[in-house]
Amino acid sequence: MKVLNQTDKEYLLKTIRDVKDFPKPGIVFKDITTLLNDEKAFGFLMDHLKTRYEDEKIDFVAGIESRGFIFGAALATKLGCGFVPIRKPGKLPYTTISEKYSLEYGVDEIEIHIDAFKSKQEIPKVLLIDDLIATGGTATAAVTLLKKVGVNCFEACFLLNLTFLQGDEQVKKHTNVYSVLEID
Ligand code: AMP
Repeated sequence: MKVLNQTDKEYLLKTIRDVKDFPKPGIVFKDITTLLNDEKAFGFLMDHLKTRYEDEKIDFVAGIESRGFIFGAALATKLGCGFVPIRKPGKLPYTTISEKYSLEYGVDEIEIHIDAFKSKQEIPKVLLIDDLIATGGTATAAVTLLKKVGVNCFEACFLLNLTFLQGDEQVKKHTNVYSVLEID
């Protein structure tokens, strides 16, 4: 499957803004809103993801709240498949299944509708997507949640991978991992 060359990676990376000390001191927040409001960069990224996945017969793209919704929903329309939101607790209106995961301090939780994939007769092929992988905790919980509702997560896709945190190693224990860009 297609990956970007170094020139294209550098082009996309330049459209992402670093915001220091957000949401707390010591964190460099990767702000993808600057990529989204650059129509050439956003279009280029979505065309790349379409090219990578268009022959894979994906049934659903599942996006992690909230920036995974932006890329996931845009990709689903390009691939001609459905979109499923994986949300923070208490946001989905119908019956949900949830998965807790550890943070540096405390725990967090994500949820999915129990019938999110019921529109397909056979076991659907699902692509998971989020903007960024850091420790890998959120994505690992999302893959576990997909397993709980009985679907096969074919690949977890991220725009950015903070490789120094090695979160991708955690997720790779459960599914394939693809990141468009790496930050060392
Ligand atoms: P993790 O569970 O540690 O892999 O964190 C991934 C989630 O936290 C993703 O949904 C990201 O959007 C968000 N996140 C973590 N670190 C950053 C960062 N430095 N910049 C932007 N988003 C981040």
